[in-house]
Amino acid sequence: MVLAKLWTLQQHFEGLPKESNFELKQEELPDPKDGEVLLEAVFLSVDPYMRPYSRMHLKEGDTMMGAQVSRLAALYGLEEICEIKAEETLLVNAAAGAVGTMVGQIAKIKGCRAVGCAGSDDKVSYLKELGFDQAFNYKTISSLEDALREAAPQGYDCYFDNVGGDFTSTALAQMKPFGRIALSGSISTYNNTAPHRGPSIHSHMILKQLRMEGFLVERWKHKHHDSLQRLLAWVKEGRIKCREHITEGFENMPASFISMLSGENVGKAVVKI
Ligand code: NAP
Repeated sequence: MVLAKLWTLQQHFEGLPKESNFELKQEELPDPKDGEVLLEAVFLSVDPYMRPYSRMHLKEGDTMMGAQVSRLAALYGLEEICEIKAEETLLVNAAAGAVGTMVGQIAKIKGCRAVGCAGSDDKVSYLKELGFDQAFNYKTISSLEDALREAAPQGYDCYFDNVGGDFTSTALAQMKPFGRIALSGSISTYNNTAPHRGPSIHSHMILKQLRMEGFLVERWKHKHHDSLQRLLAWVKEGRIKCREHITEGFENMPASFISMLSGENVGKAVVKI
């Protein structure tokens, strides 16, 4: 008999999740049937999508969703949506996180200029270590508009958007004509308790003839194997650095999830079981 631990969603989140939204339970696992294997998890991934998806897909009392291996969004957003080319200028927000760090480093490999922003000075130093050409702390600047203009006076060819909301309204104004925008996520809105107003997009989209497209990594699942090989090769060559923000203990999954949503992670937030 195998006893497994699981986290259930005790109560739907309102605003920033709280530990009391979760309940730790134990469950006896059935014996594996023919053709099935029982695997012991070593790491759990805590991801922003768990915040909006829990409301869409779970009832109170259901087992909390989650994954043991994180998926790779950066490559597809840059290649398939932004169609990024050498010497172009790219903007990415939430740049010191799991997706953002990859976006900036891949853009550099492709010969582009990478501008990133993040929510602490330590994160900004880390972005510079990773090779970002310009980085700023969006929480301490007096004007986002000025910071974006200073970082790329000629404007942006590509914008990899992890944050959405007001940030995107401001960033769109600084896109170059025919710029491309990959909508990866809108983490600034996930904890909203009231409906949020979307970014105002029409005048910039029309007058600059921009292209904006949302995506989910699953669209390219047929490419996952090859993409992983390409990314691993860059890691082995030292061209991509990966950092994990590790929380010890399955019992600390809610705390790790909440801290990631609050911006305490640098790199990929994972739980070591
Ligand atoms: P992550 O960036 O490692 O962690 C989340 C980060 O978001 C935090 O560290 C925090 O960094 C930032 N953040 C939190 N609240 C914010 C706010 N109000 N405004 C601005 N930044 C805020 O997470 P990730 O796994 O790499 O995911 C990043 C984004 O990609 C999310 O929007 C996620 O939904 C999206 N995503 C999309 C796909 C897809 O298939 N489309 C797949 C994976 C992830 P700061 O300190 O910088 O605030």
